[in-house]
Amino acid sequence: MASVEDRRKTLEARLAELEGRLQHIEAELDQPADKDWEEAAIEREDDEVLEGMGEQGLHEIEMIRAALGRIAEGEYGYCVKCGTEIAVERLDAVPATPFCRDCAR
Ligand SMILES: [Zn+2]
Repeated sequence: MASVEDRRKTLEARLAELEGRLQHIEAELDQPADKDWEEAAIEREDDEVLEGMGEQGLHEIEMIRAALGRIAEGEYGYCVKCGTEIAVERLDAVPATPFCRDCAR
């Protein structure tokens, strides 16, 4: 079974990866749009995809930060809603989850 320390390492690695990717996305979004209309239209589509990824990434970053906070408080691994211990298999699959299987539904 993974220890809380293992979970913390996993979460921190994932957080670093996401933050790196988001910085890359922001750099791409900052690039000036091409003057050619068709090119610009394609770029706009790309931007929407990038922004979608960015939002998803931001959401995951928030989840991971909250999970790291719970680790620091010694509350990690317990459902924030009902207080039940979260199943190990669930934490293996979604280490940042704040909810047990029942409350996540
Ligand atoms: Zn619960």
